[in-house]
Amino acid sequence: MQLQSFVSGKWQAGTRNFITLRDATTNEVIASASAEGIDFRAMLWNARNVGGPNLRELTFHERAALLKAVAKMLTEYKDEFYRLSYATGATKSDSWVDIDGGISTLFVYASKGTRELPNSRVYVDGNVELLSKTGSFVGQHICVPLEGAAVHINAFNFPVWGMLEKLAPTLLAGVPAIVKPATATSYLTEQVFRRIIDSGILPDGAIQLICGGTGDLFDHLTCQDVVSFTGSASTALKLRQHPVIMRQSVRFTAETDSLNSSILGPDAVPGTAEFDLFIKEVVREMTSKAGQKCTAIRKAIVPADRAHDVIEALRAALGKIAVGDPRLENVRMGPVASAGQRREVLDQVSKLRQEAEVVHGGDKFEVVGADADKGAFVPPTLLYCRDTSSADAIHSVEAFGPVCTVVPYANANLGEAVELARRSGGSLAGSIFTADNQVAARLVLGMAPFHGRLVVINSQCAKESTGHGSPLPHLIHGGPGRAGGGEEMGGIRGVMHYMQRTAVQGTPDVIAAVTGRWVKGGRQLDPGVHPFRKPFGDLAIGDTFNSGEREVTIEDIERFAELSGDTFYAHMDEAAAARNPLFGGRVAHGYFLVAAAAGLFVDPPYGPVLANYGIDGLRFTKPVKPGDRIKVRLTCKEKSFRPSAGHGEVRWDTEITNQNGESVASYDVLTIVSDKAIPDA
Ligand code: NDP
Repeated sequence: MQLQSFVSGKWQAGTRNFITLRDATTNEVIASASAEGIDFRAMLWNARNVGGPNLRELTFHERAALLKAVAKMLTEYKDEFYRLSYATGATKSDSWVDIDGGISTLFVYASKGTRELPNSRVYVDGNVELLSKTGSFVGQHICVPLEGAAVHINAFNFPVWGMLEKLAPTLLAGVPAIVKPATATSYLTEQVFRRIIDSGILPDGAIQLICGGTGDLFDHLTCQDVVSFTGSASTALKLRQHPVIMRQSVRFTAETDSLNSSILGPDAVPGTAEFDLFIKEVVREMTSKAGQKCTAIRKAIVPADRAHDVIEALRAALGKIAVGDPRLENVRMGPVASAGQRREVLDQVSKLRQEAEVVHGGDKFEVVGADADKGAFVPPTLLYCRDTSSADAIHSVEAFGPVCTVVPYANANLGEAVELARRSGGSLAGSIFTADNQVAARLVLGMAPFHGRLVVINSQCAKESTGHGSPLPHLIHGGPGRAGGGEEMGGIRGVMHYMQRTAVQGTPDVIAAVTGRWVKGGRQLDPGVHPFRKPFGDLAIGDTFNSGEREVTIEDIERFAELSGDTFYAHMDEAAAARNPLFGGRVAHGYFLVAAAAGLFVDPPYGPVLANYGIDGLRFTKPVKPGDRIKVRLTCKEKSFRPSAGHGEVRWDTEITNQNGESVASYDVLTIVSDKAIPDA
């Protein structure tokens, strides 16, 4: 099989200098790859002039729908991907992380895009900033898609997840992507990519693929492009220093190799649930994907007087791991990705051995159902660094395979445990096993400045915990220093990596015109009828309803207290309320004001407003006393339509004022409004 790249809407094979790709277990040739002869400048042109405009035409919700459709479509071809994935050395459960993990990342972004982003093309970041006395000059941060290409350079270990976790936030942002998988396992990425192209779900130019090297691609990048890199620190350093990246300030984010730690708390002695959970997790991290995970535990940091117990327990568990052909049901760990990778791992282990002894693993081990000489097999290898005082390699040498070192810390010296974790110089992930929440807090706060993600596992959450090594689309993936200094995913944060944040200053009406969101101080429109009578499509941003007045009486307060059961002294006890420094006498319940305001602004008959689903940003700004007269202003602030549902969400800027025109409460009322004047039952 000769792999092809997908360039400017066409499949294209390389012309020469083919790299041969082999099955990690059998060493049989699977494919060859080359990207020689590809016009990389044309690829960027296609992304900028075809893919970008096509994606930017869509709203966030429309792009989210594309992600969901791609995820659904890929689900149907999972068996095909699993079959091919064995060739990478992955067992079935390794492939589950890669393939199902990748597809579920698309689903999560599709759902977050619909729930957390507006059905528009501009992302409004944060609140309006008041920049003047009268409110005629305000500021607002907005985010718009970059108008270049996102170049995704991926690692060999997750050929599917690696592509999809980067594609999801990029496409949601409205930016086209050029995907460059690591050549060694690119045959699987190519197969998944082919299915996406064949489905025709994504618009033209949205994605392109390079199977092979990137040629002169970097020479043609501009400030509108983004490079998102996963791989080794040395490649990241080289690419980051590319003159065009530096000169054009091209956004460059990196996930690189990192040495991750797991700390066993002093309380987690043998016989406790947390001790057993720690052993299980270290074994899982060493053996899943044959330890080829950027988040894998490389340092098991344990109390010195427990080191012996930990080593014995790990040896016993590792002894049960069957290594061999990943296609076999009873095999728990396959080979590493290639013979080259095997050499690299063994090389790194020999460096670690200079300061740590091998306590499990070694040269002789059984390989189940495969020829040990042909496959890239490495046994689970556990080392023990008895003397950490002068050790350095355990903190700097990453053996990217089933390798971990037990590192002791002086009993109960949490500061030393933290220091041992921090000496990796920046990590993607860390974990802590303890049932003591104070120990957890001290370790988390000590480790946090050097880690992108930390997980604390105890018996209470273990069953549902996602584990040490799993990056999740909801949370950030990335870490400082050696881990690359980058950040990916993290929910909607990840979308912003592909957008430009711009501070816009002007009048409230200018900001409203830019964002599609009404701003306080802006023009209020007369809707002609009560705005609750208008179907979704007829409502205009700025449509305002001003209510009549209502006097708040002592009877109102007492009846509300009786009805709600809220007899707090500030409402009910004149003498006590008089002593309150903020009120100086009885005041109305804040929630009464909200209820009374609804009584002032609602239009009761059946109509397009289907529901009030919440209130955002409620603030009580001034007490209301018996005898005060309140009224409400309700302004249509933002609209977001859901075509498939036949209705949309409408956000109403709401302000309650008193007889002096002073604001006493402000909030956003959230409603669901039908697109029909009289919705069908
Ligand atoms: P590399 O850094 O060699 O490769 C990573 C990616 O960069 C591949 O797609 C590779 O393509 C590409 N690449 C390499 N050189 C260039 C270049 N000059 N210009 C453009 N692209 C380039 O890492 P490996 O895949 O060999 O993995 C090595 C190490 O990376 C591992 O041992 C591990 O330490 C770390 N790693 C980190 C991960 C993380 O998520 N943080 C994940 C996986 C690995 P090609 O394959 O064609 O060379």
